[in-house]
Amino acid sequence: MKVIIHGGFFSESSTSAATKKAKQDALTEIVQKAYQYMASGHTATETVVYAVSLLEDDALFNAGIGSQIQRDGKIRMSAAVMDGTTQKMSGVINIEAVKNPIKVALDLQGEDDRILGGSGATSYARAHGYEEFNTEIPQRRAEYEAKTASTGTGTVGCVVLDAAGHIAAATSTGGKGFEIPGRISDSATVAGNYANAFCGVSCTGVGEDIVSGAVASKIVTRVTDGMHIKEAFARTFEELKPYDGFAGAIAIDAAGNIYHQDSHPSMVYASFDGIDTEVFS
Ligand code: ASP
Repeated sequence: MKVIIHGGFFSESSTSAATKKAKQDALTEIVQKAYQYMASGHTATETVVYAVSLLEDDALFNAGIGSQIQRDGKIRMSAAVMDGTTQKMSGVINIEAVKNPIKVALDLQGEDDRILGGSGATSYARAHGYEEFNTEIPQRRAEYEAKTASTGTGTVGCVVLDAAGHIAAATSTGGKGFEIPGRISDSATVAGNYANAFCGVSCTGVGEDIVSGAVASKIVTRVTDGMHIKEAFARTFEELKPYDGFAGAIAIDAAGNIYHQDSHPSMVYASFDGIDTEVFS
């Protein structure tokens, strides 16, 4: 069993050492909780949703509580989960006022229509018992007022390999901040979150770059076709270079190899295999 999570990028210039440490501590605690949750008999898909919901609940990260604010002053969030065994992707795009978008994404696993956007996603959540919840925190409002929010401040994601050898991936984001309403994040697309029986990937960074590079689906396809995960990352990240694509990704393959890479520094990750916790940034 293996778990890797990420807390997105953070800005070295505007993030204090204390905040960076707090993020690393939160990731360390959550990756271990997720492992224990899986060890107590939960599936890969249940575990990635559990881990991402804990990250959504932590205001340090830009997903769920603490999400960034769009140009019109509203928060719209996106999240997706992919079960690598069934190869079913489900997700919400630009959902409003729910505490845990990733849980709505999980509910959609059981529907024929598995990816919902905008008001349809929000209505679906309300009809399924998700009460109105304001995920705004004062710090994000202050950043919005000062127009200082920058790209890449803490999208979250998780990839696991469970005891039965099943892989799942989940990703949740409050977006880039200051986006034009209607903008589509990569997080609930196959570029930002993808898994099959061979590999699972969750991305963070500039959604437009990640979609342009088809990052998660490309890495998974390469591993499926026999490329080593390290080489699959290297090639895919090489292909971001012509347009200076800004992206980071975490992954686990069916053999249990854990891998991560970013095009720019300052992404936070943590992984746990039941013995060692590794925290990177
Ligand atoms: N990828 C997210 C988006 O573009 C943002 C992020 O990862 O920080 O919506």
